[in-house]
This record gives sequence, structure tokens and C-alpha cells, in this order.
Amino acid sequence: MKIAVLPGDGIGTEIVAEAVRVLNVLDLSFEMEEAKVGGAAYEAHGHPLPEATLKLAQASDAILFGAVGDWKYDKLDRPLRPEQAILGLRKHLGLFANFRPAICYEQLVGASSLKPELIAGLDILIIRELTGDIYFGQPRGRRIATDGHFPGAEEAFDTMRYSRPEIERIAHVAFQAARKRSRKVTSVDKANVLETFQFWKDVVTEVHKEYPDIELEHMYVDNAAMQLVKAPKKFDVLFTGNMFGDILSDEASMLTGSIGMLPSASLNAKGQGLYEPSHGSAPDIAGKGVANPLATILSAAMMLRFSLQQPEAADRIESAVKSVLAAGYRTPDIWSEGTHKVGTREMGDAVVAAITGKTITKS
Ligand code: NAD
Repeated sequence: MKIAVLPGDGIGTEIVAEAVRVLNVLDLSFEMEEAKVGGAAYEAHGHPLPEATLKLAQASDAILFGAVGDWKYDKLDRPLRPEQAILGLRKHLGLFANFRPAICYEQLVGASSLKPELIAGLDILIIRELTGDIYFGQPRGRRIATDGHFPGAEEAFDTMRYSRPEIERIAHVAFQAARKRSRKVTSVDKANVLETFQFWKDVVTEVHKEYPDIELEHMYVDNAAMQLVKAPKKFDVLFTGNMFGDILSDEASMLTGSIGMLPSASLNAKGQGLYEPSHGSAPDIAGKGVANPLATILSAAMMLRFSLQQPEAADRIESAVKSVLAAGYRTPDIWSEGTHKVGTREMGDAVVAAITGKTITKS
């Protein structure tokens, strides 16, 4: 088994280092090879996704990814910006199915900005389509408008599009995932305004005929955004296109206490996957040693389960995270009065200690 380790930029290097330490104490035999990606790769090789990094990713069973980006690259031409690396990996590896579990751990109920009774016991799975929609649709660009409200003015445009096979394959993923859970899928669209999402709704409804045991509900994205903070436990599998999923999953992260708690897996048709926290490179806290590494550590657990067929090892990591939270360890983003504030490294130490059965000592 080979894992490509791509820490990236900002807090990416700090949080991936902790996930690698956790993987190393599991007594499993896999090879890990590290490569640069994002801004770090641009600095070293002049491109955010160098050929060597892409080849390593393609040749690996799984990719452990940190985060990319920094405001200092905002002036670069778009193809050279760090964020293009993650889009490029998704595209080249065909990583169309994104799984984002949003679970509120019992110990973090108080860390959420919502009332405890709304989120205690929350366990939602967001399934987001990842290689289509307005993020990849062509044409896109800038031009001088020939029509619209201001003909002759400079304008920018993107293209929202989905093909039938793209919707069908992700709908199958959502319905099959629901079979392992509470058998309910909420498909998010904007069919009342957008042709692309009327099509999405029609195709999802057709695919649903193959899953009579699953309850399907359709919901407009604006209502879904509202329901997520009003009554989030109504959802089980929240099924979205690329852009709506991007936004709703960040919203869902706050239900769990912090974006630093939200892992993710992006899979292709062969089961090869990229595993990363749902957050970005957090330039505001990079280098301070305070980033929460748990989303990345939990992403490594998803990697063991989905791509490396090591479910027991995944369970060990997840149990260790729960016990560390139960012991009161908190990075600043999830800290509350009466708990023990730690940095990135100490949180990694605590998870390692919980896995290896050593006593966790609070410094
Ligand atoms: P962000 O997710 O990096 O940060 C948003 C807020 O959450 C910040 O206040 C940050 O400090 C906090 N935060 C994020 N992760 C945290 C963690 N593990 N522990 C504690 N706090 C955490 O989003 P942003 O600020 O909008 O973007 C920063 C950069 O990241 C940009 O360049 C953006 O393009 C990039 N980005 C990359 C990815 C990716 O690599 N997949 C995803 C999103 C954003």
C-alpha cells in the first residue's frame, strides 16, 4: 500500500505531520512518500501541481492532503494559483465523489454556536459531487458584454453544467451510502430558478426508482441552508452538487464545533481516494502551532477504511480521538472553560498516546 503525502501550505504542513505520526504508530505496513503541492510547489518548481506530484498521486493507493493557498498568491494568473492543485488532482484522478461526515462529538456540544439540544447526537453525511458544476464548466472568462443590463461594459462569466452520467453516478453513490445509514437522502437543488438543477432533480428522481427502500426528499438550497441551522438532525445523507456542497459543508462544520473537526474523502470509480480536512490553509494561524489536527487525523481514518481496507485501524483512530476529547484536550478553536487548551503538536501527542495505550499526561 502506498500513500502519497501532500501537506501543501499554511497549517497543511502542521496538521499532516500529526496525521502521519498517528499512522506510524498503527503497526501497519505501508509506504508513505511526500511531495510538494500548492504554493510550496509553486515556489520550488514554478507550478502548484508539478508533474512529479501528479505522477506520485496517480501511482498511490491513497493521498493524504493538507491544504493549499495563501493570500500572497492571489495576484498570480489563475492556472498558477495554489488552489488549482486540488482542482487538478480532482480532475486528473476523477475524484467525483466527496464524503463529508459532520458528526458532533458529545464532548463538543458546547463548542458549537448552536443550542446543545439542536446538535447533540448530530450525525450527517454530506455527499458532494466534485468534478462538475460551475467550478469546471466551460466556457468561462472575461469579455466585453454585447447584451445584458450594461452592453459594452466589462463582464465575467462562468458556466454551470451537469451531464446525465455525472448526476447518475453520484446519485448512485448517495443512495448506496444511505443504505448503510438511516435510508434517507435529501437532494439539494435550485430547480425553481436554474435549468441545470431542474435536470439534476429529474435525473436523481429517475435513479431513485432503483432504490425503493430509500426515502428521497428534494430541497432548494436556500431552504437547506436554513434547515441546517434550524433543525440539522432532520438530515441524514445531504446530497449536493459541487458549489452548493462547498457552501453547505462549511455551514455544517460549525454544527460540529469547528471546521477543524471535519474530515473528508474524495473517491474515484476505482476506490482510489484523496483524504483531506474540509478546511483550507488558514494563513491567519499558520506557523503558530495552534491549528486543530483532528480533521486531518480523522481523514486518515477514512483513508484506512475506504482505500486501504483497514477498518479496525480506522476504528482505533476514531476511538482515540473520542477518548482525547473525553480527557478534555482542546485546541483553541474548540476550547471552552474547564477544558485543557493544547496546541497542534500536543493534540497529536494525545491521540498517539491514546492509540498506543500510554497514559496521557497534561503539560
Ligand atoms: P480556511 O478554512 O483556511 O480558514 C477559515 C477560518 O477557519 C480561519 O479563521 C482559520 O483560522 C480557521 N481554521 C481553518 N482550519 C482550522 C483548523 N484546523 N484549526 C483551527 N482553525 C481553523 O478558509 P479561508 O481563510 O477562506 O482560506 C484560506 C486559504 O485556504 C485560501 O487561500 C483558500 O483558497 C484556501 N483553501 C484551500 C482549501 C483546500 O486546500 N482544499 C479549501 C478551502 C480554502
